[in-house]
Amino acid sequence: MENPRVTDREPGALSTLPTPLEAAPRLAAAIGLGPDDLWVKRDDLLGPGGGGNKVRKLQYTVAAALAAGATTLVTTGAAQSNHARLTAAAGARLGLDVVLVLAGTGGVATGNLALDAMLGARIVWAGDVDSGELERRAARITEQLTADGRVASQIPFGGSNAVGARGYVDAGHELLAQLPELTQVVVAVGSGGTAAGLTHALGADRVLGVHTGAVPDPEARIGDLVVGLGGPSGAAAPALRLRTEQVGAGYSAFTEPVKDALLLAARTEGLILDPVYTGRALAGLVEAVRDGDVRPGQSTVFLHSGGLPGLFGSDAAMTWAGSLADGEES
Ligand SMILES: *Cc1c(COP(=O)(O)O)cnc(C)c1O
Repeated sequence: MENPRVTDREPGALSTLPTPLEAAPRLAAAIGLGPDDLWVKRDDLLGPGGGGNKVRKLQYTVAAALAAGATTLVTTGAAQSNHARLTAAAGARLGLDVVLVLAGTGGVATGNLALDAMLGARIVWAGDVDSGELERRAARITEQLTADGRVASQIPFGGSNAVGARGYVDAGHELLAQLPELTQVVVAVGSGGTAAGLTHALGADRVLGVHTGAVPDPEARIGDLVVGLGGPSGAAAPALRLRTEQVGAGYSAFTEPVKDALLLAARTEGLILDPVYTGRALAGLVEAVRDGDVRPGQSTVFLHSGGLPGLFGSDAAMTWAGSLADGEES
């Protein structure tokens, strides 16, 4: 890891690992932990395309697509999907066409959507549909591309199937090598692959998930993915630690605890979080320290899973952040 110069990139490699694990003593003290208790796992630094946790999952799902001879990747997401943006980046890096089937009807392209366009992805608007219908639309487009002679491969919502989740099994092992005394890692839960991979690697008691409202059934999803990875099922599966109080009025709601969390991370450590995932994860950690689920003296890791472009894609967050800026006359 000393001054890495990446010239011998393996075919298909999307990023340079491991990501750094950084101490966060000022944030720790601000939320009631000891200065040595808190670490930040910088998966926001995973390249390409602006980085984030979806890169680890794409490492596996795209490898499977390449092994099947794919020339085109098809995936789904919300308009501000980080996974869609990073699929576009992976395609660009590996010379594959990318089709993004997004919920909604378009409009002004900000945040992730602006980057999707810069990265050269083809965007298909699916209208106001649920995630099941979104997947079916993508499946039809994948079939059509195949009928037209392309080799198209569909990557699931959020990159979360058992193949993609293997990226976070690796991350769990990477964390243990960096911090053998790890008590728990705090992670935002969207489509569940990140929490599932970490749970498989570390055990359920060392993963504290913070539900974001991205899916209706996070516990079942994570459980199924853990089973898909070869983990225990049914009564044999240990209970997940999943906090649900940060969903608020829903996935796209910009909540007061998230505003506090964004300022806390920015002003103690210079870390920028996003309004949907990492902001909720830190708000959940703050609550967990308050109610004693996370305690001083434990070794806690906060997974920075990325999402910065989503901050610039959120009207509510940008209006709020702009309102903080009261410049002075010189
Ligand atoms: C998607 C996402 C998550 C959640 O990961 P899942 O594997 O979908 O649960 C967390 N943080 C960011 C920034 C994300 O984009």
